[in-house]
Amino acid sequence: RAKLRGRNRSHHFSPDMADALYRKMTLRHHLTLALEAEAFELYYQPIVDMNSKSLKGFEALIRWHDEELGQVSPGEFIPLAEETGQIVPLGKWILKTACKQLAQWRVKYGKAFIMSVNLSRAQLQSSLAPTIEGLLKQYQIPSSQLALELTESTMLQEYDEAKQCLDDLASLGLELYLDDFGTGYSSLSQLQDLPISTVKLDQSFVQGEHKGSQAIIEATQAICEKLALKVVAEGVETETQLRYLQQCGFDFCQGYYLGRPLPAHEHEERNFSLLNDIPEVSHAAG
Ligand code: C2E
Ligand code: MG
Ligand code: MG
Ligand code: MG
Repeated sequence: RAKLRGRNRSHHFSPDMADALYRKMTLRHHLTLALEAEAFELYYQPIVDMNSKSLKGFEALIRWHDEELGQVSPGEFIPLAEETGQIVPLGKWILKTACKQLAQWRVKYGKAFIMSVNLSRAQLQSSLAPTIEGLLKQYQIPSSQLALELTESTMLQEYDEAKQCLDDLASLGLELYLDDFGTGYSSLSQLQDLPISTVKLDQSFVQGEHKGSQAIIEATQAICEKLALKVVAEGVETETQLRYLQQCGFDFCQGYYLGRPLPAHEHEERNFSLLNDIPEVSHAAG
């Protein structure tokens, strides 16, 4: 690494860039080993139904603990796995593990939660729908209990091919969620053209990171209502945020205030309870 730094002491290749490259190469190597060893785990974060004040289901979120590198966040390694194509086998493992967990909760607790699983663009192949159909059969899960999350950028390339895949998935009876809504490039017409049932409003709006966050939150809720789309607010961290979203008429919320992503056994130990109660609604008059 020192050599690499010395040789490239120029404006175009800085020590920071060398570090980043080194980190990336190391991660790639460890990722290959981790895939072979299945060294991943899924955590599950509650999604709450604000009307019934109950748990609607969970979003599956991958976790990777590497012996040498420690905990590596999916925000860092998922894009890498996408670059190398490793996301395809990894994505299969994620789908299988999430279905298996869902089936266990059905059998053990009689809970019909909805499990939502994040998908990457490379997974949208013609073989995906048959693969998922096979998993649903194998684990005896009704298709209405599995949902798939896609980001807006997923649809940028080869739109027609991706749309065909989404149509196939929807015809199995699964719901498709559009993730991180408001931060990507999708047009409102796509919302109508694609078989999307649910929009997940990006957490940056809930947390007020943008100029006009509140206007965007309220407008998104209104558009979704008009288009008969369900909407989930992501990243709810405080009771104030939750009350506000409730007043805006959000049907579903997700965030650390309600529940953090946890391993399955911890949800079982807590008896699937939420971290905080959901306050009563006080709708503004009119
Ligand atoms: P995402 O799908 O939008 O997931 C939401 C992210 O926000 C998760 O981060 C979650 O832990 C975090 N989060 C949830 N509630 C709160 C909150 O109240 N406050 C804050 N600050 N954060 C909150 P995580 O688990 O690190 O995942 C990051 C991203 O990595 C995900 O964004 C998703 O794009 C990707 N990812 C995670 N798991 C998978 C997976 O199994 N497959 C694929 N393809 N991508 C995944
Ligand atoms: Mg997601
Ligand atoms: Mg999201
Ligand atoms: Mg995200």
